[in-house]
Amino acid sequence: MKQLELLYEGNGKALYRTDDPERIIVRYKDTATAFNNIKKATIENKGILNNAISTILFRELERAGVKTHYIETLNERDQLCRRVEIIPLEVIVRNVIAGSMAQRLGIEEGTKPSNVIYDLCYKRDDLGDPLINDHHAVALGAATYEELAQIYAMAQKINTVLLDLFGRMRINLIDFKVEFGRTSDGEIVLADEVSPDTCRLWDRDTNEKLDKDRFRRDLGHVREAYGEILSRLKKVVNE
Ligand code: UDP
Repeated sequence: MKQLELLYEGNGKALYRTDDPERIIVRYKDTATAFNNIKKATIENKGILNNAISTILFRELERAGVKTHYIETLNERDQLCRRVEIIPLEVIVRNVIAGSMAQRLGIEEGTKPSNVIYDLCYKRDDLGDPLINDHHAVALGAATYEELAQIYAMAQKINTVLLDLFGRMRINLIDFKVEFGRTSDGEIVLADEVSPDTCRLWDRDTNEKLDKDRFRRDLGHVREAYGEILSRLKKVVNE
């Protein structure tokens, strides 16, 4: 597999074309950004930790029957993935109220709702990724109603698998963001990444935050928190 030119560079990852048009290389970087790129920093080795964490999570999800773009991990920073057309939606799954939902609706962070909450955001940096609903998504041409139904079913399944896995690590999965893509044959697969950059993960015993909120809220020890997630993950998948 030959790495060719840069296709796209995002905040946490860079994507490279390969000599196979159906496959790309995803490189996990050390850059961290928050608040629509207003806050930026380099966290040494974050990319290595996120590559290792998302490798385990993609494999566990695949094992549970969730189709993903992940193919294999090439080295400590790179994954080989299927090339997909990203659906311009961020799907947020919330088991516990935190972050923007707590702020927007005046609910105390940490409140557990009786139901699982699904948010849709339109992926548009220039608009600040606004919160939308299904009808907006269809009107925008982002997805069809049928695709949305499939996306919600996949998000629910992903939540079930991750709740179980993190539960075994004594971590509460508060919320997470996922993105989906269409393969060349029209199949919808989980794309992007699943890592402490995209999930809120609270220690079950101490409530300590082990995710990107440590960076967003200047709590310090970001790398140590990501390292803790990786070491607990390795333990439970090897049991
Ligand atoms: N999230 C993300 N990327 C985004 C926005 C949110 O990965 O661009 C994740 C975030 O890490 C959290 C969940 O989605 O796990 C819900 O985030 P929220 O809507 O509360 O936004 P935030 O408080 O991060 O602005």
